Amino acid sequence: MSQLETAARELIEAHQLARLQVGLQRILPRNTFYAHKWLSSQETLTLESLADLRSLPFTTKRELVDDQAMHPPFGENLTYPLSHYIRLHQTSGTTGRPLKILDTQESWDWWADCWVTVYEAAGVTRDDIVYLAFGFGPFIGFWSAYEGAKRLGALTVPGGGMDSLQRLRAMQEVGATVLVCTPSYALRLAEIAREHNIDLSQFQVRVTIHAGEPGASIPATRQRIEQAWHACTYDHAGMTEMGAFGFSCVEQNGVHVNEGEFIAEIINPATGEPVQPGEVGELVLTNLGRWGYPALRYRTGDLVRNGGYACGCGRSFLSLPGGVLGRADDMLIVRGVNVYPSALADILHRFPEVQEYRIIVTRSGVMDEITLQVECPPELIPRLTEELHVALNLRVPIEPVDFGSLPRFELKAKRIEDRRPKQ
Ligand SMILES: [Zn+2]
Repeated sequence: MSQLETAARELIEAHQLARLQVGLQRILPRNTFYAHKWLSSQETLTLESLADLRSLPFTTKRELVDDQAMHPPFGENLTYPLSHYIRLHQTSGTTGRPLKILDTQESWDWWADCWVTVYEAAGVTRDDIVYLAFGFGPFIGFWSAYEGAKRLGALTVPGGGMDSLQRLRAMQEVGATVLVCTPSYALRLAEIAREHNIDLSQFQVRVTIHAGEPGASIPATRQRIEQAWHACTYDHAGMTEMGAFGFSCVEQNGVHVNEGEFIAEIINPATGEPVQPGEVGELVLTNLGRWGYPALRYRTGDLVRNGGYACGCGRSFLSLPGGVLGRADDMLIVRGVNVYPSALADILHRFPEVQEYRIIVTRSGVMDEITLQVECPPELIPRLTEELHVALNLRVPIEPVDFGSLPRFELKAKRIEDRRPKQ
């Protein structure tokens, strides 16, 4: 653990301010997007404190998407000439047009360093063999995980171009000790192993690290992965447009923000004002090392709980208990009750009989309604209904469906089917 991770808050904030000042000196003279955005009303920008940062406008995904639409193909959020960039990745495009994001060698090295923090917090060392069960397409998550594992000095094994069974056999053959994939896919691999009578307890995997979607911080989902893989399961939070910002510690209670490399704010999405410790709000991040395509005061759309700065692991980096609770635009309001899809996962994954599920969202009048389709024995339905009622104070209709009938996912799972009329 680096000294900064356990440092006093004043030291952490002084470090962040110094890093940001260096970055702005590079960004503002050359990056047209941020120069227009942050220098429009002033000649120069000097930040005396982090409080000064909070007076500057937020950046939204919509602005970055519009910037690329107006200035194709890469937009104007580029600090350097195009010849300085070495990598292109894309967002998934689940909430609109995909963003094309470029990295320089320097910012790609920064990504790798951020992932080293994720691995080290999970106890992974250079003696490990890290298997990345991922197709190596334009999604940045596992490419950066791969670079991080290399930088750590571990043996890295890419699992691209293989089906699930081939990946399982490869992991067994090379003696992989760390599995990196989405939480949904870790469960899918375990399902395939069961179908083929492959005994995961005979594998060497001791740690699993999950990215791409919330899950490893949902207690019942984490336990299900740990039991299936006979391993310790850690969460990671990151975004293509931001970086690898969150990591789980040994407490396994959500994630810490890597405040050595990011400045975090948690705001009320309606007012933009900070929320108090214990409250839920939208995470706003500023990255401190990706100067080629920076994201400053970026509204992530991720809902998180402000867990303050004290953790059993000794770190004073901001805690987000429960990790990313969901996307602000995924939260459903059903008969006046706020329902996070992660809360449904936490209940359903407590039942070993439940294989897969899907949330169907419909509208009746002005109210949203949800129905669950669950792969489970029909006799389980009354208990599931009761558990959901106790946890959410809501009666949710549940329809049992055949095992294997719902979609499975390698990357971000899409378990919400929105059947509401388009506005
Ligand atoms: Zn901790």
